[in-house]
Amino acid sequence: MEAALKTTPSPGTGAAVRFDAVQKSYDGETLVVKDLNLDIEPGEFLTMLGPSGSGKTTCLMMLAGFEPPTHGEIFLDGRPIGQLPPHKRGIGMVFQNYALFPHMTVGENLAYPLRVRGMARSEIRERVERALAMVELSGFSGRRPAQLSGGQQQRVAVARALVFEPNLVLMDEPLGALDKQLREQMQYEIKHIHENLGVTVVYVTHDQTEALTMSDRVAVFNDGIIQQLSPPAELYEHPANSFVAQFIGENNKLSGRVSRLEGGTCEVTLDTGATVRAHPVNVEGEGARTTLSLRPERVTLGGEGDTVLNGRVEELIYLGETLRARLTVEGNDHFIVKVPNRSGRADLAEGASVAVGWAASDCHALDPVPA
Ligand code: ADP
Repeated sequence: MEAALKTTPSPGTGAAVRFDAVQKSYDGETLVVKDLNLDIEPGEFLTMLGPSGSGKTTCLMMLAGFEPPTHGEIFLDGRPIGQLPPHKRGIGMVFQNYALFPHMTVGENLAYPLRVRGMARSEIRERVERALAMVELSGFSGRRPAQLSGGQQQRVAVARALVFEPNLVLMDEPLGALDKQLREQMQYEIKHIHENLGVTVVYVTHDQTEALTMSDRVAVFNDGIIQQLSPPAELYEHPANSFVAQFIGENNKLSGRVSRLEGGTCEVTLDTGATVRAHPVNVEGEGARTTLSLRPERVTLGGEGDTVLNGRVEELIYLGETLRARLTVEGNDHFIVKVPNRSGRADLAEGASVAVGWAASDCHALDPVPA
């Protein structure tokens, strides 16, 4: 009775994948995944994003069945899969190194997962053709992987992961080996395939742009813990802590102490003595140290906003449609401002003093980090 209770998922979950209190240690000492609780919805494109070593691949390997969790349980469509070997999980997989069989043609590579499932020959032919058309490689069936470009090989790998029409596809840095242009093109292709098929995708990357472009939700990992789980825009606009603010996009930091905390706003006294109004996100209370985070494009020059301070222009970079200015503001000599390239920006000479301003709501008071 106890065993049955233990493997029953919580009621009312329609999740395609559920990680329930999952932990993983390879050496019996260090937890590389610490108490992971995550529900992935059917048809969702969920990306695990984080620096190298943060535990993303380990999560994918546990889901695929190549690594057992040290603790906790993983559910697929509401069923615990702890005892299910990888080939019985019905999951499609794509890895960075393609992992195509070099001695087989493209068609044979795609047919393989269907043959091992004992599918009829005519149906195999039909499905292989359909999968090749999906990745725009109709007519390449007779080639061997070595006769294809890197991008084409990766398309074959994607087609092979989808050919048996799984409900769930795992992708681990699938575009890591491709050059930038091809990578961007493939990002859109994978996204469109996902939209057309309605398949659930769990995608691993350390590339934030890739995560923001492709995902419905992003789980930001650090140190084996999900730091934030949000749709892309929310990660950027409302980072939950300093790690996420720094990992996603560019951000300016100012350090100080919370001098007043009232409802939805706070006042922070910087280490230089200046006062700044900010939006408290995760500060411990009045008197606590905090790091303020401000996106470069939310800073205006010329003295508008809830907070206005003086800066000195250290460096100007001309980027065509925008100017990127590096300033010194309150002791931070790496304070970046992005300014639309309009005429009349003569005040933006190197060495000039300028007023910088921003809205309190754009200035997030987060946990303190070293400057
Ligand atoms: P990520 O995918 O975020 O780069 P990984 O899940 O690959 O992170 O790794 C997390 C941690 O687990 C790292 O410290 C890594 O060295 C360690 N690790 C990964 N795979 C193994 C393994 N097979 N044996 C021992 N340690 C491993």
